[in-house]
Amino acid sequence: MEEMRLFFAINFDDTMTDALWHSVEDLQKARLQGRFSRRENLHLTLAFIGETTRGDELLALLDELEAAPFRLELGRCGLFRRSGGSIFWRSLRDSAELKALQAQLTEKLAARGFAVETREFRPHITLAREVYLQDDFDLPGFSARQPRAGMTVSRLSLMRSDRIGGKLTYSEVGGKDLR
Ligand code: ATP
Ligand code: MG
Repeated sequence: MEEMRLFFAINFDDTMTDALWHSVEDLQKARLQGRFSRRENLHLTLAFIGETTRGDELLALLDELEAAPFRLELGRCGLFRRSGGSIFWRSLRDSAELKALQAQLTEKLAARGFAVETREFRPHITLAREVYLQDDFDLPGFSARQPRAGMTVSRLSLMRSDRIGGKLTYSEVGGKDLR
């Protein structure tokens, strides 16, 4: 396969996306400084691969995964502090099934010689990047007023990431239906 920037992700249904987008708009209303995620780009990354020509192997690996559909629920908001500005995220409630799926994926990737993340998996959805929080921003208050939502996950996707006309664009290369 041609070289592509790839990652494994869970994409959301409209209910989840609506709730997450509400949070993005709420951040914009709060005049938060940062680069906001586009609505169509909201997703949960399970494993980031990066630039690779081994897309075919990743599709084969996807096929080997064994997992049943499971529930995901949105959690609180928080920040990963970075030198170039923070990542503002919304978490997922603890899920043994999600952890197990991510672990299974990481194990299979490592077995095939892909470089895998060794840090603890902290499932999150990026709402904005390069964020500089105002000193008076009430994070616990903001977090508490965000709508709750959940969904049943029934597919894991191999996604490609491209800059198209300067716009970060994600598209599915292949997927695995959980059953
Ligand atoms: P940008 O790089 O323009 O800020 P992005 O990070 O959303 O945007 P990509 O860099 O293509 O886009 O990343 C795709 C997905 O993989 C995103 O969910 C991103 O958070 C995640 N990701 C990217 N790099 C890493 C990494 N080094 N470790 C873990 N996850 C990563
Ligand atoms: Mg990135």
